[in-house]
Amino acid sequence: MNDLQQNIRSDQQNIKKNCWDCKYQRIAGDTFLGICTWFSRHGKKDKQILPSIVDDGCQFFEPR
Ligand code: SF4
Repeated sequence: MNDLQQNIRSDQQNIKKNCWDCKYQRIAGDTFLGICTWFSRHGKKDKQILPSIVDDGCQFFEPR
């Protein structure tokens, strides 16, 4: 493996998955943790982000 591949791989490992750093999180209205806009981008109604999820993210996490 060359250096570039190693750098990219270690960068990916440094990104911590959570809703705060996810491009789908939007702080809006009276929600404390924000809403997840992944749903409206996939033809569904957005959901409020739950405290049990916000620090761990989900499988749809994408960095901002
Ligand atoms: S629930 Fe998943 S997709 Fe939605 S903001 Fe959190 S990490 Fe991102």
